[in-house]
Amino acid sequence: MRPFLWRLAHQHRLRGCVRNDGEGVLLDVYGSETGIDDLLCALKHSPPPLAVIRAIEVEEGTGTPPDDFRIDSSQTTESHTSVAADAATCKACLADILNPSDRRYRYPFTNCTECGPRLSIVRELPYDRANTSMASFDQCELCLKEYKDPTDRRFHAQPNACPECGPRVWLETDRDVDNGGDAIQQAARCLLAGDILAIKGIGGFHLVCDATCDEVVERLRQRKRRYHKPFALMATDVEMVAEFCQINPSSEALLRQSGAPIVVMAKGRASLPEAVAPGQSCLGFMLPYSPLHHLLMREVERPLVMTSGNASHEPQCIDNQEAREKLSEIADGFLMHDRDIVNREDDSVVLSSRDETMFLRRARGYAPQPMDVPPERVSILAMGAELKSTFCLLRDGEAILSQHLGDLEDASTWRDYRRSLQLYQQLYDFRPDAIVVDHHPDYLSSQWGRELAEQWGVPVIPVQHHQAHIAAVMVEHHLPLQTPVLGIALDGLGLGDDGGLWGSEFLLCQGGSAQRLAHFSSVPLLGGFQAMKQPWRNGLAYLANQLDYQQLSESYASLPWFQQIQQQPVAALLRLLERQLNCPMAASAARLFDALASLLGYGPLEVSYEGQAAIEMEAAASQHFDEAAAYDDGYEYAQQQLRWGRLFERVLADLQRGNPAALIAARCHRTIAAGVAHVAHQLCEQHGLQEVVASGGVMQNQLLRRALREELASFGRTLWLPSRVPANDGSIALGQAVIGVWHWANAES
Ligand code: ZN
Ligand code: ZN
Ligand code: FE
Repeated sequence: MRPFLWRLAHQHRLRGCVRNDGEGVLLDVYGSETGIDDLLCALKHSPPPLAVIRAIEVEEGTGTPPDDFRIDSSQTTESHTSVAADAATCKACLADILNPSDRRYRYPFTNCTECGPRLSIVRELPYDRANTSMASFDQCELCLKEYKDPTDRRFHAQPNACPECGPRVWLETDRDVDNGGDAIQQAARCLLAGDILAIKGIGGFHLVCDATCDEVVERLRQRKRRYHKPFALMATDVEMVAEFCQINPSSEALLRQSGAPIVVMAKGRASLPEAVAPGQSCLGFMLPYSPLHHLLMREVERPLVMTSGNASHEPQCIDNQEAREKLSEIADGFLMHDRDIVNREDDSVVLSSRDETMFLRRARGYAPQPMDVPPERVSILAMGAELKSTFCLLRDGEAILSQHLGDLEDASTWRDYRRSLQLYQQLYDFRPDAIVVDHHPDYLSSQWGRELAEQWGVPVIPVQHHQAHIAAVMVEHHLPLQTPVLGIALDGLGLGDDGGLWGSEFLLCQGGSAQRLAHFSSVPLLGGFQAMKQPWRNGLAYLANQLDYQQLSESYASLPWFQQIQQQPVAALLRLLERQLNCPMAASAARLFDALASLLGYGPLEVSYEGQAAIEMEAAASQHFDEAAAYDDGYEYAQQQLRWGRLFERVLADLQRGNPAALIAARCHRTIAAGVAHVAHQLCEQHGLQEVVASGGVMQNQLLRRALREELASFGRTLWLPSRVPANDGSIALGQAVIGVWHWANAES
């Protein structure tokens, strides 16, 4: 911002100074009225590419103007200026590294004010070189000249560097590589020869291999013990992505965003080995976002698998020594560099289909970009949930949602969560007036929130999980929290107000309160926690709880599902169910999908990642989605409960008739959408509601979203869905924060 204003001031012959003062950018300017107006106009209408201007405040005054316009060094006062998100290499920098006569030819740490690392390298505010991991590199004469020259693209580019003075890259491998070329060229040769490399990137290490080679992708799966979950890919350019995916203008725009997310798109005409994304109808691609990636991709000229560099379930490695220790069993070699990663950032993931865009994971390139919330004079810290954790700092009309941190049940993720929280507090000089936690007392985030509240002597506000899901979507769409809406939360599990397990809620949300109007009928989780891992248990639960299992198992004995579960402890589970032991009742939409997927033969008996069976069912259903109709008697609604027993009867009958599972799967999606829309419409009529908002992990299902939108449209209702924040628990903290503000404001009045 400062060099930009410097140039504007000179252009309009203005005098004065500009500086970062922690509260923002302070511009002190003297000159003609038209000159000042022109400057403000340019600032408003054509700010620098990466700038997000929250507000411009103008005050008139008098004083003695200095002789010219200059940039003052930063003052350390209260830190309100936000750190930017990391940005993918810009066109000008790419041209530099590809130009043999440029001094940055093939230099992998090239950046400028319009691109490069930000959050990933910052230790403290204000964002100056001394407060980043670039502090240990002194700029050479030429770099310093650029850094000080207001007309240069690298003027005050904090991570500015060149081959003379900046970070270095090297390859560590036992392979006898031909010594020609630089470390990146050697790494490329290793990859082409079938090696798996750990490559240090912007927000962490990746495990990388040739995505076109079935054998090496399979080897990576075995070594990483990640057997099914799809791998992310990197392509050289959009043209390469278009070979393997169905690309459209909006997915292309996403790929090219400075956040450079992994964009999940339907598979295209050319294919990659099945092992890249088993059982999926989509692939996730990103484009190179650092000079190192660009140089590497240009050497290999083919898609690479780029999955996070971690031992299974742990967060990705960021430190060189840590990577050597933890990844040596997986990687054949390491492409290392000596610029420290301060903040771990996973790649962001966004789903892009013909009609919508939806973030599944918001991390590198997007966090900590603030979101607008209604301004209130209160600071709130929201702790998030337990899975796909994020936290949120809210104050002065800004909500800063942290990058995705992961599942807190893993000890190192939990450590990382607390460390990141501490860092954000320091970065933003943040002390909350109140702390919001999930209603669930066992979540580590809830416990930690209570502990911090006690330390700081501030109140704790517990918020129900599904209410938070709905509030997050309202924030995103600027729907005021006071608006009464019908919130539909289709989710895994969350603790309900009545102490029960919820996850299929129809909520009347208004202000800080939520009333449960209806829900799916509860079904037992057979064996408790085990039911999350083994979808067939949910199939059994539905058949035994809502229908006559004995009779069904005789009538449909020849169906593969009944045969398959014969080797499972069915009789024992039915006994448990009868005696109501270890069978907590849950109204979970995710378990309904698990149950149907299992009956239809999708997913293994025991899943290896969350939602696997339902995701495979959705992938299959997408082929038949357009022609499939709902089972019109597939649901019953009575006494505030939506029951799915009949859907299961229809599914079994259809299977018996030999209808293809994929077609039945499509009908299931249609039926669930029809049932949910039917209930939603009725409740809206009853309670005089206009707006319908849906979220929760299950709403990541694209077919369900599309079908639900269509069904509600037939009632003349629009549906608000999450797009910039995830439907999963990654957005819980944001919802919690705004509900916290409401409680604070109302407690005061
Ligand atoms: Zn650049
Ligand atoms: Zn230099
Ligand atoms: Fe949830």
